[in-house]
Amino acid sequence: MPEKAMEGLDRRGFMTASIATAGAAAGLAGNAGPAKAQDASASGGPRGTLYTGDVVDGKKVVSRLDVDDLAPGQRHLLYFQGVETPTGQHWYVSVTVVKGAKPGKRGVLVSGVHGDEMSSVHTVQTVMNQLNPAEMSGVVTAVTDVSRPAMESMQRRWPNAGRGADLIDMNREWPGNENGVTAVSRHAALLFNRLLRPNADFAIDFHTGTTGFEVAAFNIAGMDAPEVKAMVELYPVGQIFDNHVYPGVLHNAFMDVGIPSFTPEIGAARVLDVKMIDLFVEGTMNVLKHYGVVAGPMGRTGKDVSVFVGNSAFPILAAAGGLVEHLVKLNDKIEAGQKVAVQRNSFGEVVAEYTSGVAGVITGQRSDAMAEPGDPLAFILFNKATQEGVETYPE
Ligand SMILES: [Zn+2]
Repeated sequence: MPEKAMEGLDRRGFMTASIATAGAAAGLAGNAGPAKAQDASASGGPRGTLYTGDVVDGKKVVSRLDVDDLAPGQRHLLYFQGVETPTGQHWYVSVTVVKGAKPGKRGVLVSGVHGDEMSSVHTVQTVMNQLNPAEMSGVVTAVTDVSRPAMESMQRRWPNAGRGADLIDMNREWPGNENGVTAVSRHAALLFNRLLRPNADFAIDFHTGTTGFEVAAFNIAGMDAPEVKAMVELYPVGQIFDNHVYPGVLHNAFMDVGIPSFTPEIGAARVLDVKMIDLFVEGTMNVLKHYGVVAGPMGRTGKDVSVFVGNSAFPILAAAGGLVEHLVKLNDKIEAGQKVAVQRNSFGEVVAEYTSGVAGVITGQRSDAMAEPGDPLAFILFNKATQEGVETYPE
């Protein structure tokens, strides 16, 4: 119990103004010494698995995980205790650890940072189900429902209750802040500091397009990082978006602490694209073979398909309201000046025609037929001579 209480206090530095909490902290100071010292001595934050003592649906709950503490040669199903909710309960996150019989590299697979991206969840589940711990060297840890409250209603953003209903995009919050003002920031930090970062030698954060906007199969990655490039080239998918995108995305939080990472994009939101999922499962198994976690020959890689690598995404934004008709499909090659979509008003009159300003390939398209001014209608992957600023992309 002292362990659990102390853990709670560690997490709630932002509550120290509370008299009750401050009193509890004083009461605990006497027996908190050795554990504190241990925490402080570890590099990269606290280490060691902490069991809360709770069991949910037969699965033990942890508030910190170190896969070194788990038995080798086994599959472990756990719940990670995420941020506390307004009712005083917690958002538990599902964690699957497949720990090989022999030591080796430790990979982390993440899905569910956005709540409507189902093919990313299924990709991670499929990889995990293919792993046999008895034959593995190393550990693979998977988290499939990071943004729990967003997933409960299958929507992109986390409905944060702190200041009335706010919808917060969790993939702009990493690495988070355990003392942050929103539950999303605190949840991100708890996961990053106590579950993801401590158990990752490499990490992959799986996504799809978003509701109303579908994408082709591609990976977002900084190809100037050799370890990242090596992983991404093992995927038999046709597009690579070679760009560092913006701060706050999970794969950049990993990169910032020296853990090679990137973001696969697996088609449309809300549905399972089984064919596309197979490509990403094959690529991810290749990555595990590349790191020696799994034995066996490589599957198909980028060498077996035609891959278009672009460093920029050209957005086509709606200039009017109305129904959008696409004239091209995902993955189509586009010439500069080519007409890609027309838009009609409620009378059926054409109110806008859209042409590409660049030569490239179609990476994403609005799948909701209605659009208002400013909505992205398409993204065209292309190569820009010089990079300027950060690229916004609704991953
Ligand atoms: Zn996403």
